[in-house]
Amino acid sequence: MLSMACKDVGYQCGFTAEAESEPELMKKVMEHAKKDHGMKDSDFTPEMVAKVKSVVKKV
Ligand SMILES: [Zn+2]
Repeated sequence: MLSMACKDVGYQCGFTAEAESEPELMKKVMEHAKKDHGMKDSDFTPEMVAKVKSVVKKV
């Protein structure tokens, strides 16, 4: 299982995403970021995706 905490990317946010695979996790993170942080697909630059992936933990 993979887990990623929104606060680890720098948001004041208690959201944590969990998924079995990285693509599935990224999908959940992006859905959350769009819904709760007003982000758009265009905000997910390669740098942002790399930042998210860098804080993913194996749980
Ligand atoms: Zn968040």
